[in-house]
Amino acid sequence: MPDWHPSSLVSKWTKQMFIDGAWRAGSGPTIDVENPATGATIGQVADATLEEVNDAVTAARRAFPAWASAVPRTRADALHRLGDLIAADADAMAAIMTAEQGKPRNEAKGEIEKLAEACHFYAEEATRVHGEIVPNDRPGFQSLVVREPIGVVAAITPWNYPAELVGWKLCASLAAGCTIVIKPAELTPFTALAIAAKVAEAGIPAGVVNVVTGLGRSVGQALVEHPQVDKIAFTGSSAVGLHIQRSCPSVKRMTLELGGNCPMIVTESADIAAAVAGATRRSFRNMGQICIAINRIYVAEAVYADFVTRLGTAADALTIGDGMERPDADVGAMASAEPLSKTKAHLHDALERNARLVAGGAAPEGAQFANGHFFRPTVLADCTHAMRVMTEETFGPLVGVASFATLDEAITLANETSYGLSAYAYARDLTEIHRLSAELDCGNVAINTVDAGIMNAPYGGRKQSGIGYEHGREGLLEYFNLKHVRLFHGVGA
Ligand code: NAD
Repeated sequence: MPDWHPSSLVSKWTKQMFIDGAWRAGSGPTIDVENPATGATIGQVADATLEEVNDAVTAARRAFPAWASAVPRTRADALHRLGDLIAADADAMAAIMTAEQGKPRNEAKGEIEKLAEACHFYAEEATRVHGEIVPNDRPGFQSLVVREPIGVVAAITPWNYPAELVGWKLCASLAAGCTIVIKPAELTPFTALAIAAKVAEAGIPAGVVNVVTGLGRSVGQALVEHPQVDKIAFTGSSAVGLHIQRSCPSVKRMTLELGGNCPMIVTESADIAAAVAGATRRSFRNMGQICIAINRIYVAEAVYADFVTRLGTAADALTIGDGMERPDADVGAMASAEPLSKTKAHLHDALERNARLVAGGAAPEGAQFANGHFFRPTVLADCTHAMRVMTEETFGPLVGVASFATLDEAITLANETSYGLSAYAYARDLTEIHRLSAELDCGNVAINTVDAGIMNAPYGGRKQSGIGYEHGREGLLEYFNLKHVRLFHGVGA
């Protein structure tokens, strides 16, 4: 392994921010960034001051007219260059992510590669955005509906996917002709700064992309309130999303990609082995710290006992390790103490209400786990909706399982929470499949697979899971305003 000591990977960005095409030391208070697998501090970033936030927004505003009016091919070429640079350095960028987030390096590398893919996808989409000519009510008129980039975007992102969740907003902004100020999560700022370094290398003009670091309540809130920010692109918890919507002092475009408590339904007709494999992957990958993680599973009575036993065995078989040292581990450390304590609270609550512990339930044993935020993948059976795990977002390596008698009951339970992000189902009966696709009330339904998203299809939530879409052409169109130009030319009048 190259010299990938966590602190040497990030030391060049100590307290640095990327504003107006240049690196600049932040003058605000220092925030420590921790390696969640060891508890060691790997580096420091600054909590940006109001002046620094303002400088970043001003730079983005200044850069906007030229970037917006560049021909799409120019922006596409920049995105292709960015994608190539990111892919070429995927190993080192993945190590930075692992050092601050905890996921194993192989998984982190997969995320960096998907960021590069997003750059190339949106590069291509950039050249395909077009308007419409709309029929008129009288001769001699023509109506053009054109798309214009919104302006300055503030991207506020969480820590669970530190590259992709920055990337979707960055790529769509660049493709559309918007400029952007990124405020990454305080737990994982270095991945965003590593992306900024690639932006500089790609020769993207100064001010088009800016990264300011710091706390949500100071830096994030300052961006929300800034009069020169035209759009907020937020991914994070439903509570903070709602707070942003309520506290924004002026009318702005907003996309809010929020939390989930995603259900899975396994019917009697399902391939049980495939369902167990899917449930294991989507409940525990990234230690369950995925907005579309399976939080709760409803299994047909006839196959319930078998499913529960097999899921417990599969969960116990997952390997846990320090993601730096064990790049191929199935799961690493959780990103911080907070999601771990919420996981334990949900576990405790369910056990008190008579859930049955099938697997996990404690931290793994061994000195190597003593200082990190580790927990064993945990399966609970015999769960009910009186338990928090079945109705709230756990965001940890814990899944609750319950049985159902009829498909009506399963669909009702699946739809019963305030969330509407993703739902999963395993079934082979065509009628069941059709009903599940049609009746699950959420933005993404995955049937006989747990990989709900692809780059060229829209991804977004309903209810308290959010507003708007990322991914796909729809994700790009969120960065445009429409303009109707009604023109009298007189021909045929
Ligand atoms: P969070 O809401 O606590 O923080 C997200 C971001 O918002 C961070 O950058 C934070 O600093 C910032 N923030 C906090 N307070 C703010 C304020 N007052 N004004 C402006 N910004 C503020 O979420 P988190 O704990 O970082 O991430 C986990 C959450 O994100 C989970 O609920 C998860 O489901 C959700 N998430 C959703 C998606 C999706 O696509 N729907 C994807 C990933 C994560």
